[in-house]
Amino acid sequence: MENWSGNITWEPGEVAYPETEEDIQNIVIQAANDGRKIRTIGTRHSFNPLFVTEDILLSLDNYQGLVEVDKQANLVTVKGGTKLSELGELLFLQGLAMENQGDIDAQSIAGTISTGTHGTGLAFGTISTQVARIKLINGKGEIVTCSEEEDRDLFKAAQVSLGMLGVITEVTLRCVPAYRLELQNRQESLEDVLNEFDARINANRNFEFYFFPYSKKVWTKTLNLAVDIPHKVTWFNDFTENVLENRMFSVLCEYARRFPSRTARVARISASMIPNVRKVYQSHRVYATKRLVRFNEMEYNVPLEAHGAVVSEMRKAIDKHRFRVHFPVENRVVKGDDIYLSPAYERDSAYIACHVYHKKDYQPYFEAMEEIFRDHGGRPHWGKMHTLKQSDLADLYPRLEDFRKQQKAMDPNGLFDNPYLNLLFKG
Ligand SMILES: Cc1cc2nc3c(=O)[nH]c(=O)nc-3n(C[C@H](O)[C@H](O)[C@H](O)COP(=O)(O)OP(=O)(O)OC[C@H]3O[C@@H](n4cnc5c(N)ncnc54)[C@H](O)[C@@H]3O)c2cc1C
Repeated sequence: MENWSGNITWEPGEVAYPETEEDIQNIVIQAANDGRKIRTIGTRHSFNPLFVTEDILLSLDNYQGLVEVDKQANLVTVKGGTKLSELGELLFLQGLAMENQGDIDAQSIAGTISTGTHGTGLAFGTISTQVARIKLINGKGEIVTCSEEEDRDLFKAAQVSLGMLGVITEVTLRCVPAYRLELQNRQESLEDVLNEFDARINANRNFEFYFFPYSKKVWTKTLNLAVDIPHKVTWFNDFTENVLENRMFSVLCEYARRFPSRTARVARISASMIPNVRKVYQSHRVYATKRLVRFNEMEYNVPLEAHGAVVSEMRKAIDKHRFRVHFPVENRVVKGDDIYLSPAYERDSAYIACHVYHKKDYQPYFEAMEEIFRDHGGRPHWGKMHTLKQSDLADLYPRLEDFRKQQKAMDPNGLFDNPYLNLLFKG
């Protein structure tokens, strides 16, 4: 078994595909009685050994779909294994949508919220903030529900919980009426974008940009509500996504791998290939992009006000050490929240993500970038690479002990442990 990028491989003792809530409960109770361990997987799009176990691996691939729709309140309950791609279409049929999404829609909803997955936009928190209620089966085999009103402490822990509290069987999402978005992709200058960053994130619904190592060009992506303008999806949208962003880029990745001394040139060519693109379509079909070139990734959350300084230090470090990296660095913004383990806990944040082609060594580059993120109070994305130890967490997560309290109550015997999580959370 391996994860999406292929950096983690493991052999679970068995893989279970339950089809009903009762099946899941029986597996949990049996495992608890037998003193075994369980890790739950979504679609293995995380880059950390969160799901590694030699014992039972639980997949909810056969536990997907709609449970309930409350049209008056725009609340939709889905099974934990539901993939975001399916969710988008299900919501659309109900005249609803998620208020914000990330770059891809391959993940499961439970996996998405469990690592604090996010999109971009100053008015929006991580996707975990869209959750109104969670149902899970804890390590004692009990079915538990929580929300803002019902067991709030558990809810704040369960909104981002890395699968440590139990198996999330249902997620109720606070949705919004279906909407359309206008996407503008542009090639711009780094200097302009950095100078106007505050204005852009305030003036647009969703704004993000990618800067390329060794280039002064950036790729900006701007999304705004499309009201009273017709759909616009052309062959050129498909061409840019399939051919330029994926196929051509894949060729360049292989070239840079074979001829590492030409990496800087490849970065500049990649930057200059970014075309200006416009697309108008239903929101869930605009957020989701194709990621066919595999990479490894480190992403950190830093306080929003530190963003400019962090980018400047990153670029200086890349130039100084001549890291052989040509993948662009992604810059997004997220509204602060009150979730115990959320990287955006109590601060409006910038998220900065570094990628390295999956066949190349990422270590020296990630190490140097992580040092910069950490110097600015960075908190890692839980699903992406980082080297934090347990001793680092207390200062970064003021509600860590509150999370641990819930973890002990939900899983007193460590049914959902694995060595990686023990090292991080149990010492
Ligand atoms: C190409 C690519 C693009 C990405 N884009 C973004 C992005 O735009 N924004 C962003 O923030 N992140 C992004 N990510 C990261 C990704 O969203 C997270 O790693 C996410 O957690 C993956 O979801 P998954 O369903 O694959 O879960 P997995 O990776 O399989 O699992 C993640 C965690 O969730 C737990 N889990 C899964 N299902 C359950 C359940 N039913 N009950 C309890 N725990 C469960 C697992 O135990 C594990 O701890 C991207 C990753 C890739 C590879």
